Amino acid sequence: MLNFKTVIFTVLLAVTFSCGRKNPDNVLTVSIEPQRYLLEKIAGDRWTVNSLLARGEDPESFDPSIADFRLMADSKAYFATGYLPFEEKLSNLTGDDVEFTDTSEGIKLLEGTHGECHAHNHAHHHAHHGHGEGEYHEHETDPHVWASVRNCGIMAGNMLRTLERIDPENAPEYRRNYESLMSELNETDAAISSQLSGLSGKSFMVWHPSLSYFARDYGLDQISIGMDNKELSARSFRQKIDEARDKGAMVFLVQPEFDNGRSASIAGAAGVESVTVNTMAYSLPSELLRISEIIKAQSKNR
Ligand SMILES: [Zn+2]
Repeated sequence: MLNFKTVIFTVLLAVTFSCGRKNPDNVLTVSIEPQRYLLEKIAGDRWTVNSLLARGEDPESFDPSIADFRLMADSKAYFATGYLPFEEKLSNLTGDDVEFTDTSEGIKLLEGTHGECHAHNHAHHHAHHGHGEGEYHEHETDPHVWASVRNCGIMAGNMLRTLERIDPENAPEYRRNYESLMSELNETDAAISSQLSGLSGKSFMVWHPSLSYFARDYGLDQISIGMDNKELSARSFRQKIDEARDKGAMVFLVQPEFDNGRSASIAGAAGVESVTVNTMAYSLPSELLRISEIIKAQSKNR
């Protein structure tokens, strides 16, 4: 169904095309901002990189608009994170003209860290992309693969291979850019390891479990108060707070969109500070380093 916004968009698109359309051969699309950071580092000035969730939308409830479909369809390649519900819709629509890359390929996936056992509909479950409303179950793949410097390195390798395939002429340049990105990522990983040394097995709190891969990389324990964004009963909320207290949780890491009054009261109940972090940041590796510095600083208060 065409709505008013779509009509306006289509008209704008027509005007843009008639005034000389940007060569689609120079455009790549990714799902989220942290991927744009990685791909821009590898692609250099040769490509324009769009991200579908450029405005910080919730990746799990994101519903692509017609404009988003156009953006992807007009790209030479589309890079999915791998396990976000909207990506399944898009992957079904990538035609022969758009190279599709699952950037999570090769990442050792986590299951059972993201959703608890809820109504699970087998009829709608897909072996690979089983992540959507009503599909949460205990073996669900944790989709937040990007929130790990080490996983970012694997994602970068998948991006490199696609660029080498679609533009072999400039492959040596992409390879050089990739190598310098990798040394940056390795340095960041080493810096985080050094910040967190001695804190193995210690806990930190979050609302939504967006840092499971980060926690695994450095042997930390993530306590998710909200789990899959559903409201908790007073009893299970109390249990979560007690768990955080028992484990001596170091800090409550809060996403910018989470209500501040509420985060302060949760932190107060658990006896920790609440600190705002952004696991969807464009420059995510440096944000993960900042998170490790926050954890280190807060661990001294425990
Ligand atoms: Zn999630």
